[in-house]
Amino acid sequence: MNPKHHPGDDLLMSYAAGSLEEPLALVIATHLALCPRCRDEVARLEALGGAMLEHQDGTPLADDGVERILARLDEPEEAAPAAPSGDVVDIDARVPRPLRDYLATGIDQLEWKSFRGLEKVELMTEANGFHTRLMRIKPGTAMPAHTHEGTELTLVLAGGFSDASGHFARGDVAECDASVDHQPIADPGEDCICLAVTDAPLRLTGPVGRLLNPFLDI
Ligand SMILES: [Zn+2]
Repeated sequence: MNPKHHPGDDLLMSYAAGSLEEPLALVIATHLALCPRCRDEVARLEALGGAMLEHQDGTPLADDGVERILARLDEPEEAAPAAPSGDVVDIDARVPRPLRDYLATGIDQLEWKSFRGLEKVELMTEANGFHTRLMRIKPGTAMPAHTHEGTELTLVLAGGFSDASGHFARGDVAECDASVDHQPIADPGEDCICLAVTDAPLRLTGPVGRLLNPFLDI
């Protein structure tokens, strides 16, 4: 089933412009692997960005960059090539391709650590100002009620959860900021596994003009 909760336009636009910081780009790329609607939207924004660059300096943007990205986005997730033998152990079908590069192993083989009533694995620890984590919540468990200092972007990989803003299942993205006080509850029946990125306060709240700058190369 296709995702119902999508990243905001500002995030898709920044992703298309190549200006998102790596942890956020990872969430978006992983969502795109699961969401035809946002793949189409990013392709449209890429084309728009290319057209704007072409218009700006009169010379066409090198085509092959955009085409490579579009071609990659067109590849269905199911068509992921088999891992080279003996190289990558235990490719996990729950992990879309963009995320695989960041995991040495399948989800169950990761070194999970207990954290406030749930389990987590830190990824990309060198990314300044961001926490990038896989979270695992037992079926039917309520996460601690919390607000956010900055922005939290959460992508569901397996299972699901519900909070005041709705139900989130595989591929869905939840975007929360300091104004959101919520207590997500994991669905019964299956561990809820999420990719969650939190950033420093105000990181995502710049004016729209800032998001357009990468296209304009100011
Ligand atoms: Zn989407």
